[in-house]
Amino acid sequence: MITDDELRERTEALVAANRDVLDDQIAFRGAQWDDGLATVQFPEGRGGLGISPGKQSIVDDVLRAHGVRYDNLRINPIGIGMGAPTVLTYGSDELIDKHLRRIFTGEDIWCQLFSEPTNGSDVAGIPSRAVRDGDEWVVNGQKVWTTLAHVSSYGMLLTRTNPDVPKHKGLSYFILDMHAPGVEIRPLFQITGEAEFNEVFLTDVRIPDTHRLGAEGEGWRVATTTLMNERVALSGGPAPRGSGAIAELVKCWGERAELLAPAERAVMRDRVSDLWVRAEVLRLTNQRAKDGASAGNPGPEGSVGKLESAQLSQAIHECIVDLMGAAGTIHELGYPMTRSDSAPDSRTGRFLRSRANTIEGGTSEIMRNILGERVLGLPGDVRVDKDIPWSEAPR
Ligand SMILES: Cc1cc2nc3c(=O)[nH]c(=O)nc-3n(C[C@H](O)[C@H](O)[C@H](O)COP(=O)(O)OP(=O)(O)OC[C@H]3O[C@@H](n4cnc5c(N)ncnc54)[C@H](O)[C@@H]3O)c2cc1C
Repeated sequence: MITDDELRERTEALVAANRDVLDDQIAFRGAQWDDGLATVQFPEGRGGLGISPGKQSIVDDVLRAHGVRYDNLRINPIGIGMGAPTVLTYGSDELIDKHLRRIFTGEDIWCQLFSEPTNGSDVAGIPSRAVRDGDEWVVNGQKVWTTLAHVSSYGMLLTRTNPDVPKHKGLSYFILDMHAPGVEIRPLFQITGEAEFNEVFLTDVRIPDTHRLGAEGEGWRVATTTLMNERVALSGGPAPRGSGAIAELVKCWGERAELLAPAERAVMRDRVSDLWVRAEVLRLTNQRAKDGASAGNPGPEGSVGKLESAQLSQAIHECIVDLMGAAGTIHELGYPMTRSDSAPDSRTGRFLRSRANTIEGGTSEIMRNILGERVLGLPGDVRVDKDIPWSEAPR
């Protein structure tokens, strides 16, 4: 087993050997993958070293110290955070070899095709259909809120292959070529004025059966792997203490505190301090969850981080906008098709974007249901359609 010092040395050696391509995303990240330093919990030869995921921060710290500026969230958030672990867990050797490295380098952007107009929280009940035709499947239906579909090469597609069994048992999971005939992508614009997500229409789209992940009818199990990884990815993972949104709040406090009336300043100081403590508690919780996560399939702990990080993000951005007073209401609208993880640049833009945090990746109500049932062992939600064939459920 590699020690922490050896891991640091290995990363230093990677940087030394690739100094001339530090600014070339594909070349540098390709070398990082080949060295097993991309996702350290993945097996050797597949971008990792088969060690605890918590050790990735050792690699990342060395890279940051050398000014390597790529980070997974900006390069390929859905592909790296969710696609790669799902392909690794359920894909054939051929699919793993084809996709994993290109996901990490960002040569292939990935998106997640789960939600449909009628089913988001209850995604197991989706009506889109795949019908088998020889060695292929023919898919028809509509997806919605598909982040990054407009720039993606591949999508993780959940669809119904058998309507005559209970909803969770009739789903299958495919890797969809987003440029296949019959895939039509239309932008959806958000409150921020950006369009990071889309509607995706699927009309007689053909997918080879070899692009299926997991057995036919086992799509729900595969989707659960994706969703658990999504919650960990969305909870942000362990960031340096006092960084990110909370750093912005502290900076804003520094700029605005003296402008506030004494009584208001005292109230806002309490609010800022309280948020700082919550941010630190979340950071430590995420660190613990990450350390404890098994290689390919983190448990429901991800839902704790997802729930709190979404609510905390909103509370921090609300506090920033309150501190800014009237200036906090100004937001320039444009309509670019971008992902707004790095943008919007303005504080008000980030406040507007944070409204989505308690919806994307599963709403806060659903996170509470998961925590109540699977972590606290409370009685389950009412599910009248769980055991009857999907085709017989009223809708
Ligand atoms: C910014 C953003 C990006 C997204 N990106 C993607 C993506 O890339 N791919 C993708 O597939 N989807 C994506 N989504 C969709 C997202 O997963 C869904 O919006 C979410 O799961 C909620 O589903 P819904 O919108 O259909 O709301 P609904 O499921 O209709 O829920 C409506 C309301 O009812 C509540 N509710 C529903 N069921 C229950 C219950 N059992 N108990 C208590 N309350 C309940 C919900 O909490 C919510 O408040 C994205 C969403 C956003 C906002």
